[in-house]
Parts: sequence; structure tokens; C-alpha cells
Amino acid sequence: RIAAVDPGDRGVHAFLHVSGDLALEQAAAVDAARAAGRTAASPLAGVPLALKDIVVQQGAPATAGSRILEGWMPPYDATVTTRLLEAGVVILGKTNLDEFAMGSSTENSAYGPSRNPWDLDRIPGGSGGGSAAALAAFEAPLAIGTDTGGSIRQPAAVTGTVGAKPTYGGVSRYGVIALASSLDQVGPCARTVLDTALLHEVIAGHDPRDSTSIPEPVPSVVDAVHRGRADGVAGMRIGVVRELGGEGYQPGVLDSFRAAVAALEAAGAEIVEVSCPHFRYGLAAYYLILPSECSSNLARFDAMRYGLRVEPAAGQPVSAETVMSATRGAGFGAEVKRRIILGTYALSAGYYDAYYGSAQKVRTLIKGDFDQAFGAAGGGAGCDVLVSPASPVTAFRLGEKVDDPLAMYLNDLATIPGSLAGIPAMSVPSGLAADTGLPVGLQIMAPALGEAAMYRVASAFE
Ligand code: GLN
Repeated sequence: RIAAVDPGDRGVHAFLHVSGDLALEQAAAVDAARAAGRTAASPLAGVPLALKDIVVQQGAPATAGSRILEGWMPPYDATVTTRLLEAGVVILGKTNLDEFAMGSSTENSAYGPSRNPWDLDRIPGGSGGGSAAALAAFEAPLAIGTDTGGSIRQPAAVTGTVGAKPTYGGVSRYGVIALASSLDQVGPCARTVLDTALLHEVIAGHDPRDSTSIPEPVPSVVDAVHRGRADGVAGMRIGVVRELGGEGYQPGVLDSFRAAVAALEAAGAEIVEVSCPHFRYGLAAYYLILPSECSSNLARFDAMRYGLRVEPAAGQPVSAETVMSATRGAGFGAEVKRRIILGTYALSAGYYDAYYGSAQKVRTLIKGDFDQAFGAAGGGAGCDVLVSPASPVTAFRLGEKVDDPLAMYLNDLATIPGSLAGIPAMSVPSGLAADTGLPVGLQIMAPALGEAAMYRVASAFE
């Protein structure tokens, strides 16, 4: 299937690397274990998966969508990779992404964009557009994504697939190339809610090698899906966030969203409107916090440790500084440079309090809005989950926003608040938009470690 749909000028281009022999070895090991009468460790044993190329796997190259890592072979497995392999999941290859996961369309990949299988002239979302496109094009039934500001949820929304961002710290970040460490989270993607939940349980859980990994037991999300299928959403209290809708949202997306809310109400959920007044500052805060953290994280690409090394131009002295500057100048793309410059500025002496410090305060206020919406005490709305559109628009055309970074950033309007607060959130297909005929995703957000409620509501859409 990958050979049939991925290559060529108008191919889906979901994969940057296909792991032929490595994947066959993993599959053979699952068969051998079965033949020897050993029961599979997981119901996903033998099921193929597409791995976003920002999670490292020994034996496969890792690029993070950047020229600066071209040719780098990671010497170890990420914890997520280890857990997948232990469960017998077969890793088909590494999927395309915006460079270092910065973007909403995969057009920032140094290796060319992926295409949306629903319409090959449109974007599959980003940064994890390769993983989402692989699912939508039936190249793999499972995929791994990473979500810092929406990179699992927005691609899921615009490709009609399912993607979940677990509670921050719920899945290990060990072996995941860092974008913004206080926001990054690995998560499961699939075509159905049950498959997503099965994958969630394989990858989640405490890891002593990640200092932000949470020690609490993994929420039973597979049970939650079964419960949702049996009992539906009757009696659940679902909040509609007033600030996530209206201006900036495509009419067809809003119509589909209202229909989804009506369906939840008809199924017995109690719908309440909640206000989260600080969400409107989310985008501004995120685009200070993220560049600040990434300018620091990307300092490790110094031409000495990994991948690319470019010699300084003729006539220039060869020093650590000139080699670093030539390599970073050639190896990083425009969006990455833009964010490094922004972040370095926001963190510099004299500006730190005004920019980075203020953004962190806004982050606390946004977290407070969520506490108010989920909490019952002190006038809280006491919601089990909150819902909104996952993406303000359906898949847009390749090239449409590529020269307009602000227009690109607006795709994250609905997903960023949940990222800043570290709560679990997912996108589940809720139908097609009447105005474009393209898929719309419903975002379901739950309090920290409240994944069970989130999956229960998601199961109503299968
Ligand atoms: N579109 C967001 C950004 O460009 C999402 C990034 C992400 O979640 N990795 O920052």
C-alpha cells in the first residue's frame, strides 16, 4: 500500500523512511512467538504502525524533518519505541513532519510536504501530517504523533482520523527530539477510537528516564471505550467553551460542531456553556513560551554532536563559531530560524520578565480557567469534559498559508489552551463540513488524568 500511494509528484508522501527489513524481522518475531505457543503480550502484536520521525528508533534514521539531522542514525530506542516493540507492534517506518514539529501543514518539512488523501492538493495538517496521512490513506492502521500545541489533534481533524494528546507526563519523552519540553507530549493516532485507546495503553506509563513522567497508574482508556459503547454519554456533563468558536472559525466547521453537540445532548449528556476568558491570550503566550524553549533545546545542534557539518565559506577562519554558524545557517529552515531568533530575544536580559515572564503568568490564568470549568467548588462549572472544534478550518490548499506565519499560527487557536494547561485532549471525526465536504474534528478535553471520560465521550462518535 505504501508503494502504491506514497511515491511520486502527487503521492501522499507520508513516509520519510520505510523500514523494510527491520519491520519484517519484527513481524517474523511475532509469528515465531505465536508458533511457539506464547501468547501475545498485547492485542496489538503484529499490527503495523507509522512512527513520527521525531521519535528515535535504533536502526532507522531520524531527521525531525530537518536537514541538520540528515543521515543521523540514533544509537538507542526511545521509551515509546521500546514499549511498541515489546508489545509486538511492527514499526513500518518514519513519517513526515514540519521541521522539528514547528508548523500546521508539513510544508515546513525540509523533505517536501505530505498530501491529504482526501484531496491531494490540500495539506494533511501538521506538524504530524505524515502520521495522519498514513492513517487516512490506509498505509498503516496505527501511528504515533507528538503534540506541543496541536500537532496530533489538528492533523487528525483535517484527515478524518483520531488522535489523542495524553496528560502532560503521561507518556515518556525519553528519546523524543525536544521542541518545547514543558509542552511536548507523545500520543496515539488511529482510524478508530478503540484502536487509539489500545495504543494509548501500550505507550503510556511511568518512565524513570523522563523526570517529568508522572508515576500515577495509566487511566484505563480501553475500558472507557467499552463503557462508552455500552452506556453512552448519559448523565455526563459536557461544557461548550464559548471562546472556542465564532471569529476565525469556518462556518462549515461550526455547523458540524453544533451538530456534534446536539448528538451528545440527544444521547443524554447535559450540555452547559462555559466561559474561559483567558483563552484569547493563549496563542500569544504560546508563541513566546514555545520559541523560548526551542531556542534553548535546539542549541544542541552545534555541528559537533549530530548530523550535518558545513565548513565556513572560503577565506573565513575555521573555528567552533564559524562552523556552527555555517552549519546552522544551512541546516535550519526559515520557520526554525524565526523561532530561534524570537525565543532568544524573549529570553534575553531586560526582556525576560516582559515577555517570557508575562507569558508564563498567562499560562497560569489559562490553567485557572480550566480548573474553573472542571472543578465543582467555588462556583466551578463541574464539567466532565469540554468540547470545541479541534481545528478552526478544514484542510486548506498546499501553499495557501506558507508565506504567512501568522495565518499558519491561527490553526492552533483551539488546541493551544489544552497544551498550555497540560491536560489530555483528543480529536475525533464528527462528520464532513457542508461548505467544503472535508472532515471536521471534534476536540474533547478532560482534566489532568481524566482520559477515561475523554475516551468515553469519543466512543459516541464511532
Ligand atoms: N502548529 C503548532 C506549532 O507550530 C503545533 C506544534 C506542535 O504541536 N508540535 O507550534
